[in-house]
Amino acid sequence: MAGMVDTDMQDAFRNWHLRSDTVTKSTPEMLTRMVSSAVGDDVYGEDPTVTELENKVAHLCNKSAALFCASSTMCNQIAIRAHISQQYECRGASLHTQAMMPPIGAHGNLAKKDVEENLILGHFLYHMAPTRLVLMSLDDVREISELCKLHKIPIHMDGARLWSASIATGHSLVAYAQHVDLLNLCLSKGMGCPVGALLVGSAEFIERARHFRKAFGGGWREAGVLTAARLFAIENIWPTMEYSHNLAQRLALGLVDLGFSLALSVETNIVFISEDTGNEGAVVGKQELMKLVNYLKTKGIILESPYQGSIRIVLHYQITEECIEVILDAARELYNEHA
Ligand SMILES: *Cc1c(COP(=O)(O)O)cnc(C)c1O
Repeated sequence: MAGMVDTDMQDAFRNWHLRSDTVTKSTPEMLTRMVSSAVGDDVYGEDPTVTELENKVAHLCNKSAALFCASSTMCNQIAIRAHISQQYECRGASLHTQAMMPPIGAHGNLAKKDVEENLILGHFLYHMAPTRLVLMSLDDVREISELCKLHKIPIHMDGARLWSASIATGHSLVAYAQHVDLLNLCLSKGMGCPVGALLVGSAEFIERARHFRKAFGGGWREAGVLTAARLFAIENIWPTMEYSHNLAQRLALGLVDLGFSLALSVETNIVFISEDTGNEGAVVGKQELMKLVNYLKTKGIILESPYQGSIRIVLHYQITEECIEVILDAARELYNEHA
């Protein structure tokens, strides 16, 4: 099928992958900012561009400090490890922390009720949003926070996608951050930055986290090239996220019009198409979905295969209106073939 792919696809900066928003690539402007960044040895605290980003993000969250780490996974592990002192270690399976992390909030969101039902008082419990989460309401965050404060349980928010949630809801990062002790913010998702995430919290805690980051092998040398990309993204790409959210709505509405069915409502840049034809009005099932995925591949558009009854389509700033039209045209073509 390679012959059918538009020759424009060879352009490295045209990026019509909708499997995840982690696939975003650095644009020429971002690369320019990276190569011209001032760098130093961050283990000695001497990389001005790393420090600039940490200060900027701490300020955006109204917290006193932030720590740039290799990934959100690493931020979460460091956060847990820095919170759990030796005498509190539970006999868990997790390699670095020995903390148990039972997933709660099965319906894809996390509410106070889920936390309350799973509280084990007298032990350290860590609350993390499930990764399938679409959008967590600020009211839920506040209620969970009040519950945790009552029991003196520290709260860490896996806010990898909080940039997107903040744009979608109109609530600032501070509005969310004020309810949690610590949070993790990713910038590799949807914003084109290579490598890394930030852990944000109190200066005292971040100092402790810095020690564990080094112990995990995560100390940086000259990481300013990476953080320069994030400074660029916060200034130039974050403010444009609403465009992706609008395109996600347009894609979802277009597909629903054609008889596809949504597995979840569209709140940000993610569209879940269900293969369940049992939904009212839905006429497109698993086979048609697979057909669409395969057909789009020939047009240079990469979607994930259906997983657990749905396809997750993730938009990002390199997905254009044109891409959405190609998807809808393809779905129309296929659907008309079946009609
Ligand atoms: C993507 C994601 C992660 C993992 O991020 P990495 O940087 O790839 O480790 C963790 N939590 C949430 C909520 C995510 O969306």
